[in-house]
Amino acid sequence: MNYSALLLQSGLDKFDAQVLFSHCTGKNRAWLIGHGQDEVDPAHVSVFNPLAARRRAGEPVAYIIGLREFYGRDFVVNSSVLIPRPDTELLVELALERVADGARVLDLGTGSGCIPITLKLERLDLDVSAVDLSPSALIVAQTNASRLDAAVRFYQSDWYQALGDARFEIIVSNPPYIEKNDHHLSEGDLRFEPRSALSDEGDGLVHLRHIISGACDHLKESGWLLCEHGWDQSAACRALLVEAGFQEVQSWRDLSGIERVTGGRLA
Ligand code: GLN
Repeated sequence: MNYSALLLQSGLDKFDAQVLFSHCTGKNRAWLIGHGQDEVDPAHVSVFNPLAARRRAGEPVAYIIGLREFYGRDFVVNSSVLIPRPDTELLVELALERVADGARVLDLGTGSGCIPITLKLERLDLDVSAVDLSPSALIVAQTNASRLDAAVRFYQSDWYQALGDARFEIIVSNPPYIEKNDHHLSEGDLRFEPRSALSDEGDGLVHLRHIISGACDHLKESGWLLCEHGWDQSAACRALLVEAGFQEVQSWRDLSGIERVTGGRLA
C-alpha cells in the first residue's frame, strides 16, 4: 500500500487525514504530497491508524493532536477547554482597536486562554488578566501562557467574584451561551467539548446577563465591554447593554456574516 491509499482508506476528510498523519509521523503535508506513491513504512501505519479511528469515532482533530491555531499561534487544548474558534478572532480584533496604551484588560471565562494571551502578545503594553471557574481549564491557559511567553494573570473565579473592586478599561468574554435544549450540543465536535464551556443550562443568556449587569462595577469610566454570543442573541445583548447604561451599543458580524459580538461603552 502507498501513502495516498493509506490516507484514503482511513475514510477521513483529506485535510483531517493529512493533519493527523503529520502529527504522528513528523512528516509535513508537503512531504506527503511528494511521497504519495511510495510504499508505506509499517511504523507510520501503526501510529496513524489508531488516531484515524479516534477521528472516525467523532473526536475533534484539535483534541487528538492537542493543538489548535488561533490568531497565528498554536494553543495547547484538551477536553477541559473549548477549542478556539476562528470567529473569536473578531472579538480579539475589536478589543485591539479599542485599547489605549497600557490599558487594563480582563477576559471572563478564558478556557484555553486564547483571548488574553493573544491580546498580550499583540500588545505587550497591556496589563492583561483572565478568569475561569474551572481549575483544569486554568492549567491549560497557564500552560499556553508559559509556552508562548505571555505575561497574563490568571485567577480562579466565578465571573467577577474573585476580582474584588478591581476595574478595567476593557472587559471581553466568550461565555457559554448555548441554550440547554439546543440539539447542537449532542452533535459533531461539541459532544466532546466541556458542556460547562458551551451551555449555561438555561435560555442561553444566563451568563451574558450576569456579565453585562456586573460590568458597570468593574469597568473604568468610558470602558468597553465586548461579548461574543450566539447567532440569534445580538438583539437581546444590545437590549441588556442599553438597560445597564452602556452607550455606543452595537453588534459586529463574523466571517459568516452573522452578528457574533456585541458591545458598548460605559457612559
Ligand atoms: N474564551 C475561550 C475561547 O474563546 C473559552 C470560551 C468558553 O469556554 N466558552 O475559546
